[in-house]
Amino acid sequence: MKPDTPVQYVKGVGPKTAEKLARLGVATLSDLLELYPRRYVDYTSPCPAASAPFDADTVIFAEVCSKGSAVRLPGGRTMIQALAADDSAPLHLTWFNTHFAADSLRVGESYFFEGRVHGTLTRREMTNPIVRTVKQVEFSPMAAVYPQTEGLGSGQISRFMASALEAADPMPEPLPKELLERYKMPDKWTAIQNIHRPKSLQQADSARRRLVFEELFTLQLGLLLLRGRDMARTGAPMRPVDLEPFWNALPFSPTGAQRRASGEICGDMQGPSPMNRLLQGDVGSGKTLVAAAAAYMAHQNGWQTALMAPTEVLARQHAATLQDLLAPFGITVALLSGGMKAAPRRAALGAIASGEADLVVGTHAVIGQQVEFSRLGLVIVDEQHRFGVRQRGLLADKADKPHVLVMSATPIPRTLGLLLYGDLDISILDELPPGRQPVKTRAVNGDKRRAMYGFLNSEIEAGHQVYIVCPRVEDGENDGPDALQSVKRYYTDVAQALLPGRRVGLMHGKLRPAEKEAVMSAFKAGELDALVSTTVIEVGVDVPNATVMVIENAERYGLSALHQLRGRVGRGASESWCFLVSDHSGEATADRLRFLCHTQDGFEIAKYDLENRGPGDFFGNRQHGLPTLRLADLSADTRTLEAAQTSARQLLSRDPALKAPEHAALADQVNRLFSRTALN
Ligand code: ADP
Ligand code: MG
Repeated sequence: MKPDTPVQYVKGVGPKTAEKLARLGVATLSDLLELYPRRYVDYTSPCPAASAPFDADTVIFAEVCSKGSAVRLPGGRTMIQALAADDSAPLHLTWFNTHFAADSLRVGESYFFEGRVHGTLTRREMTNPIVRTVKQVEFSPMAAVYPQTEGLGSGQISRFMASALEAADPMPEPLPKELLERYKMPDKWTAIQNIHRPKSLQQADSARRRLVFEELFTLQLGLLLLRGRDMARTGAPMRPVDLEPFWNALPFSPTGAQRRASGEICGDMQGPSPMNRLLQGDVGSGKTLVAAAAAYMAHQNGWQTALMAPTEVLARQHAATLQDLLAPFGITVALLSGGMKAAPRRAALGAIASGEADLVVGTHAVIGQQVEFSRLGLVIVDEQHRFGVRQRGLLADKADKPHVLVMSATPIPRTLGLLLYGDLDISILDELPPGRQPVKTRAVNGDKRRAMYGFLNSEIEAGHQVYIVCPRVEDGENDGPDALQSVKRYYTDVAQALLPGRRVGLMHGKLRPAEKEAVMSAFKAGELDALVSTTVIEVGVDVPNATVMVIENAERYGLSALHQLRGRVGRGASESWCFLVSDHSGEATADRLRFLCHTQDGFEIAKYDLENRGPGDFFGNRQHGLPTLRLADLSADTRTLEAAQTSARQLLSRDPALKAPEHAALADQVNRLFSRTALN
């Protein structure tokens, strides 16, 4: 059978089961062979019946002493019982609704029974154990356990797998021979057979390592090809620039970390190849200033800079901040956003194309087709985790190999960073501007809302401002006790009642751009005491006079998102507070929120999120735009990832477009992986 044969033609599968397999992402024969085991049950060292633990799956090797026949129970269930024994104790076996295992048992013969032991210390029982014969165990002493789906158990999948392995043509080898030799890896077909039917755990492990390598190698090749990053010369060469005049014009002095990062960036931009750097710094560490320094350098060299922000609110704020910082040097800032009216938009596009605009700030509108730059030399992407891999590529295509700087407050664990950016250089802002105090964080039950508002009122009385974040725009249909606090209802009911006489603003994603801007600038100017908002203010918004952040339904967010929201306060010199409000009483939720109360370190928080919610959640809804991996574990397979990455780069330096005939199978593999999850 060919690898792309539909799975329903595998012996024993058929159309009905094929539908169930589709739920596991299995459509073809090769998909089935790539449905890898979760773990193995080791049949080589069975446990004596007398000492089998009650709380874990166990294998017992025992002789069948007697066997009953099937009994029909009230309610239509059937039951069949047998008695077996090993040297240590008798074992009472019961099967419900399945004859299959019990029917084949013969009295006087010994079998392996796998399952969980229950009963008492003197009466050992097993219900619905899996039965394997001595011959079966000789053939494959490790039994693979597969992920299950509704109506499809691991045992059934094992049987389909056996027919698939039997019927399939041996899979072609996609990896170059020298890699197999260098890393002492088995060939593909051997690895596939061994991962499903290993003779030992070592064999399974070596098969797994080989397949993880292949998966990560393929992924790396795809990313490198997609990025089209060659080591050619940059199209925007720059000469060294003295940053002192820029630093001297600031109302404060830059932190040592800001100076260091800016120095690294300037160093890159003087080099022969395009900069590809990530600026990583916790919320409030002052990344915008470093971006301004980079734009200053580009401008001194006669190049335009484009800065892309994830939200309209943030783009507008950046445009205003950068205008203030850079206007003294004759740098003109243009704003370009999706919601702009036709006339100002035309004007902005004209200024960008003529080169009159030196710095262009916008949302993803900046990579729109109509936008033409005159001399784009530097691209800055703020809060990059909101952008897919491809969007960044598009922006870089707007010019001839421009320099690229991405900025993020989300510390990226090393493995994920390697995957997403390959050869990205990293600068870290590990120092906060002076005078910052940690934000006091408390988890609050909804009952305490009134008391909390007392506190909010006293902060407002003292001249400060507060944020209140709620999840949704409109009230939903099910307004049960668990209903989420909708931002509109909150604005009209709660905030007005509990903040009487205060100036309260409403902010959410469905407002028109001009409305958003009006609300935001009123809040910035201190004309509003409180802002009730959705998470559109999550990233980047900077109002140093705000000292309290209230987050309703805090249980809904990942810790990194909560940390981002918390980062909206504590930006000035005054003591600041964050209240995580939740009526959710679950232990796990409480643990998570407690963790945030005691930790201000964004890296620790990201690690906790990664460990507890996985990499998919880490960037929120798979916004990183990577294909789904079947086997590799990003928090564990670091070394394999590094090896795969080096190898991918070496291969592409010899065959840059992966067009050589001997790499056809590999190119095919890359296409397959990337078509499974389209990159955004
Ligand atoms: P983030 O890294 O979260 O993007 P911002 O660039 O928004 O941080 O900066 C946070 C705040 O700190 C801003 O109000 C900014 O003006 C201020 N700031 C930045 N650098 C310094 C500095 N060196 N000294 C004092 N304040 C600074
Ligand atoms: Mg920022």
